[in-house]
Amino acid sequence: MAVRTYLRPRSAAEALALIEGDERAALIGGGAYLRLATRGYETAVDLCDAGLDQVRVEDGALRLGAMVTYRRLETDIAVRDCCGGLLGRCVENIVGVQVRNIVTVGGTVAGRYAFANLTTALLALGADVVLERGGRKPLEQFLADKAPARDVLVEVVVPTAVRRCAWRDLTRVRTDFAVLNVAAVDLGGEVRVAVGARPGVARLARGAMQAAAAGDARGAGEAAAAELDFGDDLRASADYRRRVCGALVTRAVEEVLA
Ligand SMILES: Cc1cc2nc3c(=O)[nH]c(=O)nc-3n(C[C@H](O)[C@H](O)[C@H](O)COP(=O)(O)OP(=O)(O)OC[C@H]3O[C@@H](n4cnc5c(N)ncnc54)[C@H](O)[C@@H]3O)c2cc1C
Repeated sequence: MAVRTYLRPRSAAEALALIEGDERAALIGGGAYLRLATRGYETAVDLCDAGLDQVRVEDGALRLGAMVTYRRLETDIAVRDCCGGLLGRCVENIVGVQVRNIVTVGGTVAGRYAFANLTTALLALGADVVLERGGRKPLEQFLADKAPARDVLVEVVVPTAVRRCAWRDLTRVRTDFAVLNVAAVDLGGEVRVAVGARPGVARLARGAMQAAAAGDARGAGEAAAAELDFGDDLRASADYRRRVCGALVTRAVEEVLA
């Protein structure tokens, strides 16, 4: 990844000002995914000094700054104690510790990567995103936005009133991208079920959520397999993913209902 100008703004507002009006400027979170690209960037705006690496628990929510790394999701006691440990669990097998020390919450969510385990878990937890210009909105809405404006993701806000949660993913080898990933979360009043890597970006399976609320884990699996769209790629066919989805959602919902 070649970069002509490298900048380190001191705040999200300053970062936004640097990228606004400059289509050739790229924000850098961990930079791990960006650097896989062969293209270069005229201007790189590195968020490492922007004060976005905070983890806070306040008002019934876990607030994760955009620059919080995966390794902190695994090791930070405040994160581990929240949300049934789901955030650490969903990333703990991704590549290796060196990569997880670098990659960030913000780079993952803002990148809208369809394979991302973390996005699936955050969607099931009912997280919101906070954007410097766009303000706070549900992650589900952020992911559905077809023409997102250039903005800086500041933090992710995760409700902590989680009764139980379950994580399931299937990979061909342990550190590969998931063929499919599933998170189920019992928030007390509702059970939320999200499925990602279909290979499309994570989506809530609302039929599965209704079945789960009625205590029917097998029905939840059948509903998720029927209602979501699946596709082919080099890892798996759409038909295989649909079958895997039914099984993984059933098991995840069984776990949260147990
Ligand atoms: C070799 C490798 C293997 C991986 N395997 C897996 C895997 O198996 N499963 C999995 O779930 N993930 C996997 N990942 C993805 C990884 O977990 C991260 O999702 C990814 O690297 C993005 O995080 P980053 O901090 O590196 O983002 P960056 O590369 O810095 O940025 C990604 C994109 O987001 C933008 N961006 C960054 N921060 C912000 C911000 N705060 N606001 C707005 N835009 C921003 C950047 O401009 C860029 O477009 C892998 C990554 C690598 C490099």
